[in-house]
Amino acid sequence: MKTNSILITGGAGFIGSNFVPFFLESNPDLHLVNLDKLTYAGDLENLTDVDNNPKYTFVEGDICNRKLIEELFNKYQFQGVIHFAAESHVDNSITNPGAFINTNITGTFNLIDVAKAHWMSASFQFIKGKEANRFHHISTDEVYGTLGETGLFTEQTPYAPNSPYSASKASSDFIVRSYFHTYGMNVITTNCSNNYGPKQHNEKLIPTIIRKAISGENIPIYGDGKNIRDWLYVLDHCKGIELVYKTGTTGETYNIGGRNERDNLYIVDVICGILDEIRPAKKSYKEQITFVKDRPGHDFRYAIDANKLENELGWEADENFESGIQKTIEWYLNKYEQ
Ligand code: NAD
Repeated sequence: MKTNSILITGGAGFIGSNFVPFFLESNPDLHLVNLDKLTYAGDLENLTDVDNNPKYTFVEGDICNRKLIEELFNKYQFQGVIHFAAESHVDNSITNPGAFINTNITGTFNLIDVAKAHWMSASFQFIKGKEANRFHHISTDEVYGTLGETGLFTEQTPYAPNSPYSASKASSDFIVRSYFHTYGMNVITTNCSNNYGPKQHNEKLIPTIIRKAISGENIPIYGDGKNIRDWLYVLDHCKGIELVYKTGTTGETYNIGGRNERDNLYIVDVICGILDEIRPAKKSYKEQITFVKDRPGHDFRYAIDANKLENELGWEADENFESGIQKTIEWYLNKYEQ
């Protein structure tokens, strides 16, 4: 079958399941094949709105399975890969780092190596008609390590990953980089800050705050709650990915971040404040906030300088934290109160 097919990996996860419907709608000429292993983090419920779309195909499988990847490339003749699939939760990487090494490093190697075999006849030589085929690797700002009170991560910041998760993502970034420098492949990488929004797994900070709040449980906050992240609404990330995939310069990396640095105390305070207004309880939800033992090696601060993406490609975030969190809370209330 020869169509304008793109392979999406990890499309049943948080960001992928926001990206797939968005990208299908803005690219009706393309066919998306979503390859996902459906680990605990993948949920097909998040993709029901595209189930019947003839331009969408779901395949359950593992990116570490090279034979499967080769079969999919043979069948669909992909013109691009947008690679989201990963083990993504830092806490799990502390207790079970092996899964992160397999999926994030070996899985990424498998994918890009099969893509190279299908798109290139030799180093720096594309098979005719495959010159524009692109491998887009989705990565994180956590590869840069941690910041102090000031400064921002730019694309030039040296890598200094601190958790098994970020170390495995850094390794995968380097593999992708090497396929550009060694083989001349058309690769591109985006490193994004913390995402939030609909369809995120229950284990992550913002869904946890909302769920615990409305169920009357303690709301756990690591350490003193002063850790800072640069929060980006997931659809702004998706828009950035589409822009970079279509217009970014080969071999380059682009940071994506919304200049929305907020510490965890602020996040929990805002969410509880909004819930106090729209779901008032006997007492303020803020009284449920509980500080728990900090995560080992917890990075203090991440913040992204997105100038390159803004100035070179014209990207701009549509949401700030205060507007995005309203929509997010509404989505989770709808989910948890059903
Ligand atoms: P997620 O954990 O919600 O989803 C990951 C998806 O990958 C799941 O559907 C899972 O089933 C699938 N998957 C896992 N292992 C697989 C394997 N071996 N083969 C096939 N599929 C597999 O993750 P997310 O938050 O959506 O993150 C997506 C990507 O974006 C990741 O690469 C992550 O590193 C990156 N990222 C995430 C954030 C964030 O804040 N969530 C920020 C920056 C970058």
